[in-house]
Amino acid sequence: MKTLPSTDVVIIGGGWTGLLMAKEISAHTSASIVILERGRSRMADYSSGMDELDYFVRLHMMQDPSREAISLRHNDNERALPIRQFGAFLPGEGVGGTGEHWGAVYPRLLPDCFEMYSKTVERYGEKKLPADHSMQDWGITYDELEPYYARSEQEVGVSGKAGNLKGKKIEGGNIFEGWRSTEYPMPPTITPYFSDLFRVTTKSLGYHPYYNPTAVTSEEYTNPEGITRPACAFCGFCERTPCMINAKAQPTNVLLPIVRQRKSISIRTGATVRRILHDKNGKSPNGGKARGVTYVDESGEEVFQPADLVVLASYTLSNTHLLLLSGIGTPYDAATGKGTLGRNLTHQVSFGVQAFLQKPLNKFMGGGGTGIRIADFDADVFDHGNLPFIRGGMIAAMSVGTQPLSTFGNVPRSMKLPRWGAAWKKAAIEYFDRTGVVSFAGEQIPHKGNRFDLDPTYKNAAGDPLLRMTQNWQDNERKMVEFMNAKMVEIGHAMGAKDVNPFPGYENYDVTRYQSTHIQGGTIMARTPDRGVVNTYQQHWDISNLFVIGASTFPNSGSSNPTPTILALTYRTADAIVDRYLKQPGMLG
Ligand SMILES: Cc1cc2nc3c(=O)[nH]c(=O)nc-3n(C[C@H](O)[C@H](O)[C@H](O)COP(=O)(O)OP(=O)(O)OC[C@H]3O[C@@H](n4cnc5c(N)ncnc54)[C@H](O)[C@@H]3O)c2cc1C
Repeated sequence: MKTLPSTDVVIIGGGWTGLLMAKEISAHTSASIVILERGRSRMADYSSGMDELDYFVRLHMMQDPSREAISLRHNDNERALPIRQFGAFLPGEGVGGTGEHWGAVYPRLLPDCFEMYSKTVERYGEKKLPADHSMQDWGITYDELEPYYARSEQEVGVSGKAGNLKGKKIEGGNIFEGWRSTEYPMPPTITPYFSDLFRVTTKSLGYHPYYNPTAVTSEEYTNPEGITRPACAFCGFCERTPCMINAKAQPTNVLLPIVRQRKSISIRTGATVRRILHDKNGKSPNGGKARGVTYVDESGEEVFQPADLVVLASYTLSNTHLLLLSGIGTPYDAATGKGTLGRNLTHQVSFGVQAFLQKPLNKFMGGGGTGIRIADFDADVFDHGNLPFIRGGMIAAMSVGTQPLSTFGNVPRSMKLPRWGAAWKKAAIEYFDRTGVVSFAGEQIPHKGNRFDLDPTYKNAAGDPLLRMTQNWQDNERKMVEFMNAKMVEIGHAMGAKDVNPFPGYENYDVTRYQSTHIQGGTIMARTPDRGVVNTYQQHWDISNLFVIGASTFPNSGSSNPTPTILALTYRTADAIVDRYLKQPGMLG
């Protein structure tokens, strides 16, 4: 194995979190920083235009499952099988990571998401908690994170309307959101017909519609770092593709231009990290030390990169996988409840009902995150006293731009047509641009059985065990989906739909239907080492020179998309590293 000269900091992963951490550390210190990214540099592709088949269907931007798959089982009695084609979630690969092909929806978590356990018990008592839940508070509150949310919105460039500005409730924004210190840096994006119809309808039903916040520009925008992006052209190629004009915030257009100018940072592509090397110290729980990482370079050679500080920023799945492979921390044992590594795997609940409307919607136009939502059934905004579930989510009518290969073929179920033949073809053409989706994004409650560990059977291209997910929906999700489905069908009819296809409901977790790429947990944070893998600064409890950043540290999912919270936590961790850790290495209290 080749050994390279040591670096001050090595960062594993070149996505939102990895590039942001490099930018922040390099802004305030002279530390040498190496970013190791398993994929390639991809920006040259973007200006040549987008192709639905390549990006949406063949998943051009995503992790290659023939080299690195994930295995899945629903419970301990099943044998896990590798997912050979990603469907329910789409992890990215290459400089910029998953944030290159994300949808740019940019909501903060509601304050009680950080204290889901104690707030639920406070309002309803222990008896209301779902069977075999593994909920716990984060150890950090919304108030502590608020300044970092605000910072991220300025830097990423978010369009939206505040609903709670320093405690003042404002119509048109989300009045149920936590207090905000600042307005969004840009006004909301335009509201196409379908979303506006939802806005007018839900308002007439007594709900509180608001403009969805999005990291897509509603006007030309220059962020505090001096990066300028043009206004969105609503071309409809956004989620699953990168942006052709840089209107959608991506790590490569917001962070990379700065990272590239910093001489202290080098990015190595084609570098797949296999292990974090470390010295264990049996006497002190915090006495372990990371020595650096080993990776396989583009030529296939194994390389050791020594480093004083290791930052693991490789998304929920790889973050958990690399700690398991490296033997860092105590793997969670679901039977005994002991151990922390791998616990609290959650995946945001998501589904839609199809509303068949009377006139064309021009759905080919749109931008990521453009649309209207209601949060009247989110979190604990509504009373669950007489309901058979806790928590909730947001109902929306988004106008993100849709393409024919991915969305053609929906017809009202009441027509009782097979999915082939002349009659179906005629109806599918008629309804192609008249079908609007009323969608839902909600919370999955952490469950004792849902977790990550190493697969005992299947291996990746390097010969290492695959990451195994044991994941299934529980009664709480099933009942919540049933309740929301009924509300959404009601809204669809109130919008004037002559037919509505309800969602069939949640049975087993399905890896073929796109759910979202909002997977949380595995290396969760906690105030004490017996409850989590990292502390609230995302510093590993056993190894003080190892930080793990990203949604793997979330103890539960929110209904909100995770990236604003991921970035807010990354800023907070970066500040702690710069202001405290690098001045006096050790555990941050
Ligand atoms: C289709 C889609 C839509 C989305 N829409 C939204 C949205 O609207 N709003 C929202 O908040 N979030 C959204 N997300 C999620 C969002 O993209 C992620 O939360 C975010 O990108 C996570 O950032 P990260 O830095 O933690 O991980 P990533 O962006 O995934 O970066 C991790 C990087 O690490 C690299 N890596 C992994 N393993 C290794 C290894 N062993 N060695 C070296 N490198 C490695 C990967 O190649 C990758 O580049 C969406 C995701 C997808 C796929």
